Amino acid sequence: MSVKKRLEEEVVDHLKFYKSLGVEWVNAPPSKPGKQSAAAAAPKSAPKGTVPQTKTFSTMRENLPSTKESLEAIRNDLGDCRRCKLAGGRTNIVFGFGNPRAELMFVGEAPGADEDEQGLPFVGRAGQLLTKIIEAIEMRRQDVYICNILKCRPPGNRNPETEEIASCEPFLFRQIASVKPKVICALGTFSSQTLLRTTEPISKLRGRLVDYKGIKLMATFHPAYLLRNPNEKRKVWEDVQTIRDYLKNLK
Ligand code: SF4
Repeated sequence: MSVKKRLEEEVVDHLKFYKSLGVEWVNAPPSKPGKQSAAAAAPKSAPKGTVPQTKTFSTMRENLPSTKESLEAIRNDLGDCRRCKLAGGRTNIVFGFGNPRAELMFVGEAPGADEDEQGLPFVGRAGQLLTKIIEAIEMRRQDVYICNILKCRPPGNRNPETEEIASCEPFLFRQIASVKPKVICALGTFSSQTLLRTTEPISKLRGRLVDYKGIKLMATFHPAYLLRNPNEKRKVWEDVQTIRDYLKNLK
């Protein structure tokens, strides 16, 4: 097969894949090649009715741990954790998965039934969609780091409770400090509101990179929400494109 033919087939495969995500268009590359800073790429002002492109959440008083530990050391410290009542109902602790030096880190809410059973984050139907989303920005699942606010499954997938978060999130902060990603993608309302210490709805939070303790954070819809609302996939596609372009501009 000629190189041209193979490239054509790869392009067709990519477009089919984007279509499966609900993407109906792709951006043409910029007409003038050359490096453009993220600041230059950002719109000069946010559209009326939206929050600015970059925003610092002043309510975030806590800092990330200054000491850098390995993920393995943090996992060992977590041990057979019984710090909150979720320990009683879990099958496995779901600590996290992926590249310990990832530039991009996904943070979801809590493990579901499949994750609890396998001890791995995002392995059910929502996880398969997340894998497609990651691949749509030309990355692989093993290139990124994936974890949750909580490491144990809440019964019946109910919302996490305040004391459960308080017990578990110090381990997430240590994971973030260890991986030191360039971008965190917070998946869903709960993860976004917990990390940003805000009650703003996800519809207001998503769509723009914000400052999070020296790291950029993009809030977007949870893949489980997309399974129920496939029409929102396009918004997630826009959000992950913004992440992809930001990371490219850093190179
Ligand atoms: S949710 Fe977190 S704090 Fe609670 S038992 Fe599991 S690992 Fe420990």
